[in-house]
Amino acid sequence: MFRFFFLLSFFFFFQACSDIEKEVTLFPDNGLAFMFYPNDKAKNDSVAANLAYGAAFTVHPQAYYTLSMDSDPILPAPILQLHRVLLSTGEDNKVNYTTRKIRHLKAKKIKDRWEYSFQAEESESAIWATTLLGENGDNYSGKIKNFLFEGEGSFSQSFSLNLIVVGDFQSTTDGLDENALADELLAAFRKFYVGIQIDTCYIHYAHHHPSLGKKYPKDEPWLAGSSSEDIMLTELGGWGKGSTFYALDLVLVHRIDVDGVLGYSSLFSANLGGGDLSTIVLGTHVKNANTEEALTSKKIIETAVHESGHFFGLRHTTSTSTDIMLLGDASLIEDGLKDTPVCDLVLRYGKSKAKIIQNRGFSWPLPIIPKMIVRADSEMDDLFAACPDASNLMFPYVNSKKIEGFSKEQLEILKKNLSLIEH
Ligand SMILES: [Zn+2]
Repeated sequence: MFRFFFLLSFFFFFQACSDIEKEVTLFPDNGLAFMFYPNDKAKNDSVAANLAYGAAFTVHPQAYYTLSMDSDPILPAPILQLHRVLLSTGEDNKVNYTTRKIRHLKAKKIKDRWEYSFQAEESESAIWATTLLGENGDNYSGKIKNFLFEGEGSFSQSFSLNLIVVGDFQSTTDGLDENALADELLAAFRKFYVGIQIDTCYIHYAHHHPSLGKKYPKDEPWLAGSSSEDIMLTELGGWGKGSTFYALDLVLVHRIDVDGVLGYSSLFSANLGGGDLSTIVLGTHVKNANTEEALTSKKIIETAVHESGHFFGLRHTTSTSTDIMLLGDASLIEDGLKDTPVCDLVLRYGKSKAKIIQNRGFSWPLPIIPKMIVRADSEMDDLFAACPDASNLMFPYVNSKKIEGFSKEQLEILKKNLSLIEH
């Protein structure tokens, strides 16, 4: 309390003595409907359009960030104001936010770009938001072109896995028990995360959890989204202490109780400890109308690696209509990477049903991004296999093409984003 008072006093003192530059503060005023992510290359038109009025992003302690855009030939560079977003849950369980200004940054002109660099002096990850101050003391009115947000931290290029078995699990349909599945998971992560070390895969059982075990009976086939309200089983994240606490939490349930969904992760969950956004959910089965289908270990493992890609900030190579609807930005039709092709068929599929959610407000936690299996018309598996990006791990649909892995640009994003996340 004392420290806060001191800082506040200092601020007023500074204001009173500084006539050279009158500081105007512009707070976000638009509901913070759009978020952006480090090292993301997607088009993000809605972020660019909202940067002056409020766009949100996650920062990690002590990481270095650069926000940049093309310079305008006529207008002077805006001031970037950064605000910390403070979340609170209201009586109706709705998440509300307030903001407090923390930074005021001038642009550096580097060639034909304006760059704003800063370090996140936070003790834990936090949500910040932008505003851009124009020359007349109001929101900058220039068009933001080629917006880019880059981040790099100092955490290691290695991580471990937690396989957290929830409820009844005997074996996968091809006969792997949890020990064999953990071995195969580890082998797959080691194969696909080229240049990143995957140390080990720990196995845990939800019914053994020291404080929550009773909530997860050993004999119950767990249906994520029905057996308990939290589809992500967030409370099971951050298992144990030390290296198991900071391992990537793969929560294995009987099935996700949503048609056709094999796995869930939030886009750039970026939390290897416990708490919000620390889990990835995987089913051993997939729901298909009133029935279900048992998955092979290969499908479960490929889904795990796919979801981990989202967890560390990768988008689908081509966006599904659901992605565009959830993210609310029609410019996000693909990941923006030069070395991952785009598939017209994915863009057309389901488009007639999807509508972008209008008048979006701040949403927290972040929208969760599924890996889908297509069953309504199973010939889609073969049609999707003809997509030029079908063999990439971040292709959104299960299909009959052999998975080759992540692209070079995807691996670069994974490495940079891993360096940001405490582990
Ligand atoms: Zn996905």
